[in-house]
Amino acid sequence: MERRRCIALYSGGLDSIIAVKLMMSQGIDVIPLFFATPFFGLDAIRDPRSYRDKQLERYGVYVHVIDYTDDFIPILSTPKHGYGRWLNPCIDCKIGMLRKARNLLKPFNASFIITGEVLGQRPMSQRRDTMNIIAREAGCKDILLRPLCARHLSPTEPELSGIVDRDALLDITGRGRKTQLGIAGSMGIKPQYIPTPTGGCLLTNAEVASKVRHTIERCHPLPPTRYDLFMDVVGRKFVLDESTIFTVARNEEENKILSEMIFPGNIFIKISGYPGPLAVMRGEMTKENLGIAASICLRYSKARGTGGVKAYWGDSPMSMNGVIDARIANDDILRRYQFDFSR
Ligand code: SF4
Repeated sequence: MERRRCIALYSGGLDSIIAVKLMMSQGIDVIPLFFATPFFGLDAIRDPRSYRDKQLERYGVYVHVIDYTDDFIPILSTPKHGYGRWLNPCIDCKIGMLRKARNLLKPFNASFIITGEVLGQRPMSQRRDTMNIIAREAGCKDILLRPLCARHLSPTEPELSGIVDRDALLDITGRGRKTQLGIAGSMGIKPQYIPTPTGGCLLTNAEVASKVRHTIERCHPLPPTRYDLFMDVVGRKFVLDESTIFTVARNEEENKILSEMIFPGNIFIKISGYPGPLAVMRGEMTKENLGIAASICLRYSKARGTGGVKAYWGDSPMSMNGVIDARIANDDILRRYQFDFSR
């Protein structure tokens, strides 16, 4: 008997929700996979269960969170098809996700893959020629179904074999959302839960892109590690020397996120006895770098302007047993070490 089960690349955007529900409405068992990286789905990596519960409650969809970071690092460092406007390697990123999904077909006992892609919606990765390249290079040419625009594309295996009713698939094209909003309403998705459109992941943000580019260069010729990349999506970045960076949380939420980044090589720093930010140094743990880090940390704490202040440091926020004098960083020091976004 043909397997009436598919894997969905699920982004949490409206198009992927509709694609999943469209298949479910045909009685097909759908396994939605959310591929998360620090640039797209940091919250899902930090707390996959909450992410899954939210999707289930809002859309009736049971999502599996896949941490895609390690697969994504070589793609991000040297994308065969290059970058988009910023540091977003969208074509290679999609090929990588589809390859991973294809390898999961057997374990999930599924026979094809769906995505929420819409022909002509994105200038680079959703043109007809690019969509063909993505399907071909991912090795999914005949088993990749794009339900939202399927009637503009050649029939795929699940359609030809009758697992999927092609006549019930859609023929959406372009960037508008009117049709999708109408469908969302008819599917019973509450207006307050209709996701707002995004322009892409954090790699399409100029500042994050600039920080990540610096990280790739700093780590070269090795690729950056996942621990290096997580440092670039939170906090204020400082560059202490060519192999050492320092990140200072900007608010309570960032304090919390940074406190979870107990990674090999990270050193946590905090001013003792006063409210202030948590900070992380990564790279060369010299006394000089620790001193500079402590002085920058002091600059952003409530102890600024106070003398005789000390900073605690250690490899976890729970075990900061090192102590160092903190002398406040003046404007020149801040300017010298703060990350240069114009680079
Ligand atoms: S915007 Fe591009 S690089 Fe970022 S997650 Fe989407 S496809 Fe991947």
